Amino acid sequence: MLTCLMCLAEIKEEGHYGLHPTCFRTWFEVESLFEFTSLVLKQGSKGEEPANQNSSFFQGQYKKYSADLNGCSYILKVRQTSAPELPELEFLCNQIAELIGLPVAKFYLLEMMGDRVFVTRNFIDRSEHASLSHIHTYFVDDAARTCDDIIRVIDEQTHRFTDVETFVMMCLFDSLIGNHDRHGRNLGIVTTAGGSRLAPIYDNPSVVGTHSGDWLKADIGLEGRIPTKDSKHPTISHYVKEFRRLGYHDQIEQFRKLAQLPRIENLISKSFCSNLMKAAITKMIQKNYKELEQTRI
Ligand SMILES: [Zn+2]
Repeated sequence: MLTCLMCLAEIKEEGHYGLHPTCFRTWFEVESLFEFTSLVLKQGSKGEEPANQNSSFFQGQYKKYSADLNGCSYILKVRQTSAPELPELEFLCNQIAELIGLPVAKFYLLEMMGDRVFVTRNFIDRSEHASLSHIHTYFVDDAARTCDDIIRVIDEQTHRFTDVETFVMMCLFDSLIGNHDRHGRNLGIVTTAGGSRLAPIYDNPSVVGTHSGDWLKADIGLEGRIPTKDSKHPTISHYVKEFRRLGYHDQIEQFRKLAQLPRIENLISKSFCSNLMKAAITKMIQKNYKELEQTRI
């Protein structure tokens, strides 16, 4: 039975990218069954800054394509042997991000070339004359920056408290799902003629996605990428301590309210990941959730 990747119901007629034609039109907000065109492989290597800063959006450890659909630009992430369930896992992690209210770039799971592909809307749309500056470009050297350094930059650049709140929630989210890859290029500020704002949160998979087979049964730990004042390798309790110190009590409580374990477990159970992957991400989240609960005063 063919299942629609959007509504999960059976596809009886001919599907379009693994979706019911009506689901495709609804999800992409288009009138017709458009196709992806102009697929270009974007394979940046880590650690080198390309000449065009917008193109560094594509850097990272996963194989990506850019593509167009009805005049909009998308990024396609395909399955790789080093991360065999990445499309399904990144889709799930973005659903969890959405559940806790993080502004993520619009995302999809589609069927292309006989396989599932994670697709995300490229929020740097050429037509809007927007540019993306990665957070590390606001610092003069490569030293790791703590949470308050980054908060200061976001505040100075965007003057939007909601962007600072998003950053706090993002750090807690990363810790909860086990995203260890929030390096200086995986957070950015978008500038348009209208001003600057924090970019939608992108590249959000859990580290369990880089494991497969029996490795998924291992007790995979996590150290956060963004240091706190007291820890170079923070876990979720360090972030809670840090954000309390900086006065973000309300945001921590908001996170607790939205990131309820049964709601997350429900998303995991309905996801397209293998049972082994579901068990691994559940174990990771349960462990971090327990640590989060222990930080209640
Ligand atoms: Zn459907």
